[in-house]
Amino acid sequence: MRLVIKHDGASLDGAPRVARAAATVAAAARAKRPARAGARTGTIAVCAAVGGTTDSLVAMVRRAERRDLEGTRSAASAIADAHRGIARRLLREEGARKRLLSELDGEAGELAALADGLARIGEVTRRSADHLLSFGERLAVRLLAHALAAEGTPAVALTGGEAGILTDSGFGEARPLMDTTRHRVARALGPRLEAGTVPVVGGFAAVDQHGRTTTMGRGGSDYTATVIAACVDADEVWMVGERGGLMSADPRIVRDAAPVPSVSHVEAMEMSTFGERQLHPRALEPLLGTRIRMTIARPAPAPPRRAPAARMLDMGTATRVGPTSAKTIKCASTLRHNALIDVRGGAMVGEPGTAARIFGALAEEGVNVMMISQNPSESSITIVVRRDSLDRAVRTLELGRAGGTIKGLDVVPNVAIVALVGSGMRGTIGVAARALGAVSRRRVNILMITQGSSELNLAFAVKESDSAAAARALHSEFSLGRQGAGRK
Ligand code: ASP
Ligand code: MG
Repeated sequence: MRLVIKHDGASLDGAPRVARAAATVAAAARAKRPARAGARTGTIAVCAAVGGTTDSLVAMVRRAERRDLEGTRSAASAIADAHRGIARRLLREEGARKRLLSELDGEAGELAALADGLARIGEVTRRSADHLLSFGERLAVRLLAHALAAEGTPAVALTGGEAGILTDSGFGEARPLMDTTRHRVARALGPRLEAGTVPVVGGFAAVDQHGRTTTMGRGGSDYTATVIAACVDADEVWMVGERGGLMSADPRIVRDAAPVPSVSHVEAMEMSTFGERQLHPRALEPLLGTRIRMTIARPAPAPPRRAPAARMLDMGTATRVGPTSAKTIKCASTLRHNALIDVRGGAMVGEPGTAARIFGALAEEGVNVMMISQNPSESSITIVVRRDSLDRAVRTLELGRAGGTIKGLDVVPNVAIVALVGSGMRGTIGVAARALGAVSRRRVNILMITQGSSELNLAFAVKESDSAAAARALHSEFSLGRQGAGRK
């Protein structure tokens, strides 16, 4: 059995939580010690930055751009102090504590020098921003590796690059080059696992082919964990965080929203792009087509000391993700802050290439289109974009870059997407009718409907002010809050 355990920032925030994370990883490592050389066993830990650190680093980038030398310096030393504070409370043994503090000082010194340089120039490129942002994880892995050693579990702290993850050079949004990464990760981690050492890998950041630091987008440690799991042929990935499993709806909107006990890889992928930022949107990609299972859970409130690894998680609120799941509807998600544009024009009817021109022009401007629909009458094409790209989208379309076929644009600026997600819609008759009925009984007007032929996602665009009512209607119509009824 081979296991990857990822801890999010909140679950590493403070010495008691780092110690708890170490206890969880150590318990797994005890159970999965290699029986013989070459056996496919072992535990790998992946860390996000300690809660709030990446946000502080992002704020530091803004300060550096403003040449705020003082502000940049004090932000760097606040980050260093917070980590030193955790280190002092984390380790009792004097020598180990000194070694950890000096490792943290090494990282913090480099961070301070970099921040200082950037603030003096007042220019931060995407490449240098990524380098700066990577320090959160670089500091976090030192804490967890030392905490593991203190538990008697040999561990080694590695950056994503050192662990073998190679990405393209899309700074800020880099994508792993999986074929190369597979070899490199196996080479970097394999011997360590065989030796019974736990690699503690920094999430979120990696390197490109020139060895320059890249990051994979906010929440990227989820992605790191699944990339590594795919590369070392793991059996399971644990996503440990304070929020527990994937929810049947946004609990801020739907009061009886509950964790969904079990979903498939593709359902989890659909769910991760919606609502609360629970998983990195690409984190499921490396698992598609594999047998690798994922457990998304919060730590158990008070596990007994040296309990087996599985008892370290609160399974009552967890979500298990596997290759398949029951054919049911899993959640009613809400995605707010969008806008709808209805593109009209008589000349569009029967005119090949209209859609290509519209989407081509939007793509050139870097506008991402989230929902698309066109009636068979072809008299209009309706699209939904994020509200912060609405101005750009409308300007682009008005400037006539779409070839003069567009006659007019109707814009609805405050739109939410409410979607049902789950394999239970596939080939099941009547789901759409029930969904539409439930929404209309709440007197919500539906602006647009889409369902791809994969039938995993039935989505409605509604006015933002109607979105809570629509989500509640769908959630209760399909009893989505009761999927875990009866589980311990
Ligand atoms: N530390 C990074 C962030 O805050 C990556 C992560 O937490 O997954 O976005
Ligand atoms: Mg996260």
